[in-house]
Amino acid sequence: MAQVPVAEGVFTWPSDAPALIGSRCVACGNHMFPVQSGCPKCSGDSTETVTLGRRGTLWTWTIQGFPPKAPPYAGDADPKTFRAFGVGYVELPGEVKVEARLTESDPEKLKIGMEMELVIVPLSTDENGDEVVTFAFAPVA
Ligand SMILES: [Zn+2]
Repeated sequence: MAQVPVAEGVFTWPSDAPALIGSRCVACGNHMFPVQSGCPKCSGDSTETVTLGRRGTLWTWTIQGFPPKAPPYAGDADPKTFRAFGVGYVELPGEVKVEARLTESDPEKLKIGMEMELVIVPLSTDENGDEVVTFAFAPVA
């Protein structure tokens, strides 16, 4: 079974140390995710593609307790089998806040400011029987 990324150009894959792919503004150094050709901060139109830091801190979070609307949601949207998951913003130091799925869905185990690390997790199975994978942040043990 192959593992295919949910979208191209979002994270480095396959990789032992996967990282998100973002943009850095050449003019002001602002980081963006996902990749953007223009900078919303300084209106500059020159950006370079960079891999972002793999660790950050949990800025805020919630629990997604029902299936998001599909599409665009590409995971299991069947209310009978859907499992709640955490969603949060992770602040990558000196870079950008990234909205992402969290591997942890227990509110007791999520705390603002805790250290998080990027991981790649299974999302669904596509029509070829391949496993579709996406990025998520996991608490650092
Ligand atoms: Zn800029």
